[in-house]
Amino acid sequence: MPPSARASALLAVIGVAIVGGVFLSTRNGDEAAEVRIQNTQSLFTEASSTTAGVDTADTATSSVDISVPILVYHIVRPSYPSDSRAVRALAHTPQVFDAEMKYLGDAGYHITTFAALESYLEHGTPLPSNPVILSFDDGWSDQFTYAFPILEKYHYTAEFFVFTNPIGHRGFLTWDNLRTMLKAGMVIGDHTRSHPFLTKIADPAQLWNEIDGSKLLIEKTLGITVNEFAYPFGQHNATTTALVEKAGYKAARGDYLKRGGTASLATLYALGALNAPTTTTAFMLRFPRH
Ligand SMILES: [Zn+2]
Repeated sequence: MPPSARASALLAVIGVAIVGGVFLSTRNGDEAAEVRIQNTQSLFTEASSTTAGVDTADTATSSVDISVPILVYHIVRPSYPSDSRAVRALAHTPQVFDAEMKYLGDAGYHITTFAALESYLEHGTPLPSNPVILSFDDGWSDQFTYAFPILEKYHYTAEFFVFTNPIGHRGFLTWDNLRTMLKAGMVIGDHTRSHPFLTKIADPAQLWNEIDGSKLLIEKTLGITVNEFAYPFGQHNATTTALVEKAGYKAARGDYLKRGGTASLATLYALGALNAPTTTTAFMLRFPRH
């Protein structure tokens, strides 16, 4: 069964917030979130097609724009009858998640990391062929319970973007969970303290605390350096991007709608991303076999 009524309610609230924030749809709210996600796939595909001349082969040795899909997962756990439409639109069952991970390998894709992408863009360090980056948002405890063992099974590395206020609270990852995942080769990224709309914060000190304070807390608690940041709801502007760079991050994952997956030095602090399709059919359409 789901964690608790309180945690479920919280999850639903944030799930709705994620959908509302990410998709910024002009459509009516009664339209299925799933449809909006499919629209997002279309946008992503269109964006990717504009970079058709960019080679992602393993011979790439210079820093040029490159199309690297950055997949975003939120909830990986069995579905519950009480799940809201918003949660369903973002949730993967363990079976579907496992199938997507297996498919990526079978279809000729190679899981890489933000660090490898940064190294490619800054130094020309080659990436594997058909690279894909896996990321998880918000630090739900189900990610540890269900997704982490599957990632280990396939020897994949993923980055977990956590916001620090709920760490250790019911329904969320604990610091020990994070330590366990770090030991297994996973990467921890920052997702602010309280998951606000950063672009709506006027107080510079508050903004800096959300961007830098959370980074310092994770680094101090876990004894690591946090190099990547994910903007809550994917939303950023010139101010937030500049502060993220000033705080010492090497890259940041941004909007879900703009040219998702195309990376360059100029976009390192606003990397486009893609919400992972929640059905294997949609997933296979987005990632054709090589
Ligand atoms: Zn989030």
